[in-house]
Amino acid sequence: MDIIELFKHLVNTKSETPDDGGLLDFIEEYLVGFEAVRIDVEDVTNLFIYKKFSEGEHLCFAGHVDVVPAGSGWDTNPYEAVEKDGFIYGRGTQDMKSGVAAFTQAIKETKEFKGTLSLMLTSDEEGDAINGTVKILEFLENNDLLPDAVVVAEPTCEEKFGDAIKVGRRGSINGYLTLKGKQGHAAYPEKAINPIHNISRVLENIAGIDLDNGDDTFAPSKFVVTDIRSGMEVTNVTPNELKMMFNVRNNTKTTQKEVTEFVAKHFAGLDYELRLTQGSYPFKTDTDTKIVKKIDKAIENITGVKTKHSTAGGTSDARFIAPLGVTVIEFGVRNYSIHSINERTSRKEVEDLHKVFKNLIEIWES
Ligand SMILES: [Zn+2]
Repeated sequence: MDIIELFKHLVNTKSETPDDGGLLDFIEEYLVGFEAVRIDVEDVTNLFIYKKFSEGEHLCFAGHVDVVPAGSGWDTNPYEAVEKDGFIYGRGTQDMKSGVAAFTQAIKETKEFKGTLSLMLTSDEEGDAINGTVKILEFLENNDLLPDAVVVAEPTCEEKFGDAIKVGRRGSINGYLTLKGKQGHAAYPEKAINPIHNISRVLENIAGIDLDNGDDTFAPSKFVVTDIRSGMEVTNVTPNELKMMFNVRNNTKTTQKEVTEFVAKHFAGLDYELRLTQGSYPFKTDTDTKIVKKIDKAIENITGVKTKHSTAGGTSDARFIAPLGVTVIEFGVRNYSIHSINERTSRKEVEDLHKVFKNLIEIWES
């Protein structure tokens, strides 16, 4: 198979989370001469497959074979790779069967490498992500197999192929605030404590406010109010309490501590309760680490594009890898149609992604 044949085979195989559609078995057989370890947990399938070519560093490619459901309204069968006008249509073409095909083919074609090459694949990235990459990493940690560097091949490019890699991700802090008052009659406001009136004076100082200035790679952490509710939908009673929800997509400069202090400063003198939960933690890979320099170089070698280092967007399994002290970046095709109907990627981007990964492997020790 060449890269495009492999890519089309992956797209032609329906693999909605957490079903891998048999793709992990297929990749295990496809990579002849590699050692395979299956780390399946409940209905999730996970594969770690590696080859030690010689002593040296361990470079790993990571990704997911699962896709989100196709939904209705497609112009083509979402589980058939249909090529027209230079594009290949199908669920998962951008997110992220292009990435999986590109790195699988790249390591299959590698004859020489100073060190170890591996793949980390799961069928549970789009779902709960509880029994997926986390379980593979546990296994690697326990068996002294953690890689030195990981490339997650999620789609990262924006306007043109090669223009962006991700060197980190923001975290997500969820806030639940209850502002206490004292219920009363609208005609006697002096006898009540109206939490709506009280928060109205606070809101302009918190809603949409930046909690830090960000830095070269991170946008500022912004306080975003997502919900406020109070009252009984009547005009003659003022409410006893008010509930507000908010979210902060936080960079590494702002933690739960700073959010707690920010709230304390602005709600000073008011009776409130605050609860915070952390959906995910921010991370950043230094831009002078080897993996960043090498992928920058490989992208430039193949496309001529000087890539940008981004931390924008949602979350990916890279958030589980970085805390283990493993340097991680993300690079893949453009991402304008992920999770939407008529998902597609250009044939050229898939071919170029394969070339970039091959080049990365070639220049790793140069
Ligand atoms: Zn993805």
